[in-house]
Amino acid sequence: HETISVGDLGHRMGIKANEIIAKLMGLGVMATVNQALDVDTAILVASDFGYDVEQAMTEEIGVEQLDLQEAGGVAVSRSPVITVMGHVDHGKTSILDAIRKTDVADGEAGGITQHIGAYHVKSEAGDVTFVDTPGHAAFTEMRSRGAQVTDLVILVVAADDGVMEQTREAIHHAQAAGVPILVAVNKIDKDNADPERVKRELSDLDLAPEEWGGQTIFVEMSAKNNIGIDSLMENIQLMAEMMELKADPERKARGRVVEAKLDKGRGAVATVLIQEGTIRTGDHFVVGQFSGKVRALLNDKGMPIKSAGPSIPVEVQGITGVPSAGDEFVVVTDEKMAKNVAQARTLKARESELAAGSKVSLDTLFEKL
Ligand code: GDP
Ligand code: MG
Repeated sequence: HETISVGDLGHRMGIKANEIIAKLMGLGVMATVNQALDVDTAILVASDFGYDVEQAMTEEIGVEQLDLQEAGGVAVSRSPVITVMGHVDHGKTSILDAIRKTDVADGEAGGITQHIGAYHVKSEAGDVTFVDTPGHAAFTEMRSRGAQVTDLVILVVAADDGVMEQTREAIHHAQAAGVPILVAVNKIDKDNADPERVKRELSDLDLAPEEWGGQTIFVEMSAKNNIGIDSLMENIQLMAEMMELKADPERKARGRVVEAKLDKGRGAVATVLIQEGTIRTGDHFVVGQFSGKVRALLNDKGMPIKSAGPSIPVEVQGITGVPSAGDEFVVVTDEKMAKNVAQARTLKARESELAAGSKVSLDTLFEKL
């Protein structure tokens, strides 16, 4: 499982063996058609021919099956992926509802938002994608798995209540994850609203507003009276531009599972937030320990679509099992590749389960002694 021959590599790429031999000579390696190449050399040569190789995946299943992805085009800007956080009752849901109403794509046939854990809004100011992480714990859990999909946190603080326990928690989680925060001071319509107090309290937590010499954008708003929503949307775009969020829509899709379930009629379905590339129906993929072929794609409004690019959430059908939130979703060359990676992962998981199991029984044994 350690090597691939020059001939096999050429065959996989549709490139003549002597071209590869010439390339290797250029690298100072004298080779023949039957020469065995190690992972690193194979990856180097493949990338010289314009292929992206999944190093990690290649090591999982062995180099002779290496996944050759034709390299994509240029990275272009993508919409920001946002998570709304804050203390209970400060207006998270109300703000999201108000933003949804700005969706210019709303009113399209069947335009009812489905609950798939993420949704995309086309607004006058620009497009945004929202990811519902059910609670701050989920945000941290995603981060611990290296699966943080959020570019920006909107921290909602009610102007009549100020910074509370869960406000502090949200700040802590966002800062630990290195995700920038935009503050939405909500409920400014209330008689006892005190936005200045919110600014003071947040300044003490390293979130000073720009007008006080800090770096944090504050938007004063009222979700109830529809005040400040446009300003919020514009400031989201402003921050997104500063972050220069980019992705390459040309390559094969890769993303993260936001939510997954077993549906009675449709089998295993997963909401995948696409992070790179474009997913299409018919694509073969690996997701966690499972694989599959994209049988159908639904957008966040429950409408069937044929493809989806970066920062777009899609519901994927055609998975061999129910993956976990945070699992990486990767489109691969063919069915064989998809199955082999899934199989290798299942085996590995079973091995570590067994190892854990025997450890437990040993522990139990010692307890009894
Ligand atoms: P969440 O728990 O953070 O999702 O908060 P909700 O969006 O459910 O809002 C909690 C309560 O505050 C609800 O009764 C809302 O109607 C109310 N609310 C939300 N935004 C505003 C606002 O801007 N002004 C006022 N006066 N009430 C609001
Ligand atoms: Mg809510």
